[in-house]
Amino acid sequence: MRHVLVTGGAGYIGSHACKILRASGFTPVTYDNLSTGWREAVRFGPLVEGELSDREKLDATFARYRPLAVLHFAALSQVGESVRRPGLYWRNNVEGSLTLIEATAEAGCLNFVFSSTCAVYGDQDGVLLDESCALHPVSPYASSKRAIEEILRDFERSHGLRSAIFRYFNVAGADPEGEIGEFHRPETHLIPVVLEVAEGRREAVSIFGTDYPTPDGTCLRDYVHVMDVVEAHLLGLRRLERGGESRVFNLGTGHGYSVREVIEQCRRVTGRPVPVVESGRRPGDCAALVSGSARARRELGWEPTRSDLGRMIADAWAWQQTGHYDS
Ligand code: UDP
Repeated sequence: MRHVLVTGGAGYIGSHACKILRASGFTPVTYDNLSTGWREAVRFGPLVEGELSDREKLDATFARYRPLAVLHFAALSQVGESVRRPGLYWRNNVEGSLTLIEATAEAGCLNFVFSSTCAVYGDQDGVLLDESCALHPVSPYASSKRAIEEILRDFERSHGLRSAIFRYFNVAGADPEGEIGEFHRPETHLIPVVLEVAEGRREAVSIFGTDYPTPDGTCLRDYVHVMDVVEAHLLGLRRLERGGESRVFNLGTGHGYSVREVIEQCRRVTGRPVPVVESGRRPGDCAALVSGSARARRELGWEPTRSDLGRMIADAWAWQQTGHYDS
């Protein structure tokens, strides 16, 4: 069997990656501590419950499954929380990833696909961010991801570990077949929060900052469908299997939507009212993060076919009304 180790396979993006891996002839082995993930989201291969910091369990997992690659999704991922609790982010994301990367390289598994973030770029005066831009992370979350990118470069020099590093913009939507979707407790991300308001489970959505230097004063983000994101991972994995060199790829569409535009689209898709409250800025947020995504299209043949904003919201809405996990 062609095993792939998927850390964070019980989480939002990781579970969608497991689905596409399975459909493509791989067996995804989820490695997850279930701190923010869900046992029920693990539907496409075995689950190993473990910590990234548990070297013995990692070694036993590599020995048992002999994966041909690692897809590393497991991470804490909330910008605001990272500003309040930087130690947690450095320990969990950086120390945990270091242990995983070392275990991977020493097991002789030399293909590594890593979930990084557009937040590593920070604020850059309204330019489209491409992979050659300098990195200016402004939150501990973003700094932790940049540090892991550097660790990967060091292990390439020492062990020949090759990587595909994906810097995601804002991942949204859900499996169109409704098997899995986004489910965080508590939820903090914009689209699911707005949909909870539309559903009547929250009173209003707070707009974090209305005085940014953007056309309507709210933050601009580049939203990309989770199925398009995991499709890129498959392409990245195949590239590594063919012997391709390490490479960083942005995953976005090149189109920025403001917080107000997203809320308006959610009203349109759901046909429900969405009351808003204007609040102060959220520490750690950048004004605008919009992708130059030519490289993934050119070098991987990636085409984000599902990333129309209305469609992403419709898929998220369908999932939110029917699907949830209990365990
Ligand atoms: N946002 C907001 N209200 C919310 C949640 C998010 O105004 O309840 C804003 C947030 O400040 C950012 C954008 O929506 O500008 C996207 O935030 P999200 O947490 O979804 O993703 P991030 O960009 O932090 O990865």
